[in-house]
Amino acid sequence: MTTRKLLLLPGDGIGPEAMAEVRKIIAAMNEQLGAGFEVEEGLVGGSAYDAHGKAISDADMAKAQAADAVLFGAVGGPKWDSVPYDVRPEAGLLLLRKEMELFANLRPAICYPALAETSSLKRDVIEGLDILILRELTGGVYFGEPKEIIDLGNGQKRAIDTQVYDTFEIERIAGVAFELARTRRNHVTSMEKRNVMKSGVLWNEVVTATHKAKYSDVTLDHMLADAGGMQLVRQPKQFDVIVTDNLFGDMLSDVAAMLTGSLGMLPSASLGAPDPKTGSRKALYEPVHGSAPDIAGKGIANPIAMIASFAMCLRYSFNMVAEADRLEKAIAAVLDDGLRTGDLMSEGKTEVGTVAMGDAIVEKFRALSA
Ligand code: NAD
Repeated sequence: MTTRKLLLLPGDGIGPEAMAEVRKIIAAMNEQLGAGFEVEEGLVGGSAYDAHGKAISDADMAKAQAADAVLFGAVGGPKWDSVPYDVRPEAGLLLLRKEMELFANLRPAICYPALAETSSLKRDVIEGLDILILRELTGGVYFGEPKEIIDLGNGQKRAIDTQVYDTFEIERIAGVAFELARTRRNHVTSMEKRNVMKSGVLWNEVVTATHKAKYSDVTLDHMLADAGGMQLVRQPKQFDVIVTDNLFGDMLSDVAAMLTGSLGMLPSASLGAPDPKTGSRKALYEPVHGSAPDIAGKGIANPIAMIASFAMCLRYSFNMVAEADRLEKAIAAVLDDGLRTGDLMSEGKTEVGTVAMGDAIVEKFRALSA
């Protein structure tokens, strides 16, 4: 039987509450489908700081490196606001991304029909939306050197950030975009600012060359990133996969995500390069939301972002496409039945807590898998 090694890092605040619902789905898949998930658990963020004095211990980092995939909850909270900067809860996540070399960040924006009314856009613009923003995560202006504030000595200071990309960084993220598009609607839109930035000129050149060399079966469009932002709110369904750099991706993925309503609905994945021997990629899956200290411990957090992150894990780390589809269908079905956590609540719907929402999704998933 295939063994699939998962490391769960629930973290702080609502992280453990949401992760508990994923654990139920993993158990159901092992029991009903013989999925063979082997689950280990570790500490990250404030909980790791309390136990080990750092945001992730070396032992848990080693477990993350050895796992087939890592599921991450959320970190942070007021309790750790004054801990030293390099061991603050968020440092655990940044260290995981860095040590596992997770350069590709995937953020789907999916609008479940039952939730079209919670979007700030009109129903017909948003209903049925299913797009994927792919953001380069380890390069660009957030990491480029020099990065400094210089005192000019005349009462003025100068701040410098450096936008820098090498060919291989653009090639590898473009490759991920084309491969993902092949599993979807076969269409990539690359966004940069080649009209004013040299990094945009190179980005455009390298994406075009990568397409020509290996992926000419996929449709490729280029769009300036500012126009892309406008098109995302005007006519988002024109897109399938959008690939862009770290800075533009940070902004465009937030815009796209918010098209679909609540923070409690949004999953994400961060992927590394394929292992040359096995072809498998290092990967970490996490909800977009944080640890929500304002509602932690109350049993009312929406577990769907965490569960949908596990669906991405099934799809991208284990190629369990049918199971991922079924899990996403189970989420949609529960919403169609009118069940809502507080963050999604509207008139005429039934308000449920974290555990009841998780149970309902597991039950639908089991029924769809029978
Ligand atoms: P947040 O995402 O935790 O919460 C923002 C708002 O959305 C809150 O009102 C919260 O109650 C609500 N919310 C978030 N997730 C929800 C869910 N699943 N169900 C229902 N409501 C939900 O962001 P914040 O308040 O800015 O940050 C709180 C803490 O989380 C901070 O310490 C921050 O640093 C940390 N944070 C961590 C991550 C991460 O772990 N990846 C991401 C963002 C923020």
